[in-house]
Amino acid sequence: MAEPRVDALLARCRAIVGDAYVVTDAVAMAPFMADWRGRYSGSGRAVVLPSDTAQVAAIVAACAAARVPLVPQGGRTGLVMGSVPDTSGHAIVLSLRRLNRIRAIDPLNRTMTAEAGCILADVQAAASAAGMLFPLSLAAEGSCTIGGNLSTNAGGTAVLRYGNARALCLGLEVVNAQGEVWDGLRGLRKDNTGYALRDLFIGAEGTLGVITAAVLTLYPAPRAALTALVALDSPRQAVELLGLLQARCGASLTGFELMSAFCLGLVAAQFPALPRPFAQQHPQYALVELSSNESDAHAQALLESSIGEALESGAARDAVVATSHQQAMDLWRLREHIPPAQAAAGKNIKHDISLAVSRIPDFIARADAALQQAFPGCRPVTFGHLGDGNLHYNVAAPAGEAIDAFLAHQEAVNRIVHDLVAQVGGSISAEHGIGMLKREELVRYKSPVELGMMRAIKAALDPLGIMNPGKIL
Ligand code: FAD
Repeated sequence: MAEPRVDALLARCRAIVGDAYVVTDAVAMAPFMADWRGRYSGSGRAVVLPSDTAQVAAIVAACAAARVPLVPQGGRTGLVMGSVPDTSGHAIVLSLRRLNRIRAIDPLNRTMTAEAGCILADVQAAASAAGMLFPLSLAAEGSCTIGGNLSTNAGGTAVLRYGNARALCLGLEVVNAQGEVWDGLRGLRKDNTGYALRDLFIGAEGTLGVITAAVLTLYPAPRAALTALVALDSPRQAVELLGLLQARCGASLTGFELMSAFCLGLVAAQFPALPRPFAQQHPQYALVELSSNESDAHAQALLESSIGEALESGAARDAVVATSHQQAMDLWRLREHIPPAQAAAGKNIKHDISLAVSRIPDFIARADAALQQAFPGCRPVTFGHLGDGNLHYNVAAPAGEAIDAFLAHQEAVNRIVHDLVAQVGGSISAEHGIGMLKREELVRYKSPVELGMMRAIKAALDPLGIMNPGKIL
């Protein structure tokens, strides 16, 4: 494209959002171009920061007229290189950060209408101030945005009870690829009026349109939450414990996270100030959270009797129940420090996979064995949201082996893990999405029929191909 057309587009953007919100200086643009993990940096013509839906619509329409691609960006915490442009330098980054207003809370309908750039922690705080709960919770909640959460259909630690981001959204406002505003901000729990457009934009990673606001589902704030760490012999025992707790506690069971001994060993080595709840090491651990809308005493009685039953029946080895808020936070910190402990110990080959819960023990055994055969001494770093069938099945280099030399085997390691996932009917992306990182894996594992329908949807909604090109498809 001739540069004068780009100059004209940037002049139009400045007229729409104001000079201060069209960034073209390379140094100022750099943070918007860099992937969260620091492994990749793209380049773009400008970063544009609109402040409301009308401005977003005008920017998208101007980009469509100029045939200039757009990369929607929220908190840039995504882990699959979805919110940064490619290296062609053609795209404009559309940052939604300034669309950060909570528009309304409807306590009787238990909904909140929030703009896309609202930080997740701020949405949680606004719900809490209104005496309710917005249950989406993940370690990046201080930086990620609701628009990014919905565009990646984020999961996190409370999916077991409340579902993922899609399940927490009743309506959307979207600027489509033509720059038109679709007002779908309906706070309805039932709406069978044709195709579920809302669900198309959720999880689309910015490839179909720009989410500008959402109606979010709120829940009554629980009166009590209790946390326990349970020591286990094996992943199979973890699945049995999960079944027992679901049977005894029902909807009160809000979290069930699996962590291997190797994961907690990494945390202990990298963060020695964190507590070590058990005197001896066990092969596996489950972090369990129970919530109650009745009382502390009710939650405690339920948790203690359920875990007591598990210990007696041999479904668990040992257990620590937090007796204070501080102790509960300390137990959760063990879980939250696994990714930083991994990063500090050296890069891993990562997999964010989803499996039927019942198949997880067998999958771990088979994947561990296959990897040991191919790469003797490699160390699986296995943890995740077991209650949702979501494992972070990461693989660290054998002790003493140069990390870069091991990372060179990424393709072969991915093949072993993802082929096995496909064999047992699982998914290669449970919650992080596809972005640029897993695009080739998607083509490998989706059927031609499924890919064909996805491409048809993309072509119908974004015929010019300007919405986040090169992501997902
Ligand atoms: P970004 O990274 O800015 O964007 C993500 C994608 O959404 C991109 O494709 C982007 O183009 C698109 N997008 C962003 N905003 C919009 C919009 N308004 N309209 C259209 N498209 C848009 N994820 C989980 O699911 N569960 C976890 O437990 C979890 N834990 C994490 C822990 C850490 C420490 C980190 C760094 C990340 C974690 N993530 C997790 C991944 C990440 O936080 C989520 O994917 C999050 O939802 C991304 O939100 P964001 O605002 O940062 O989006």
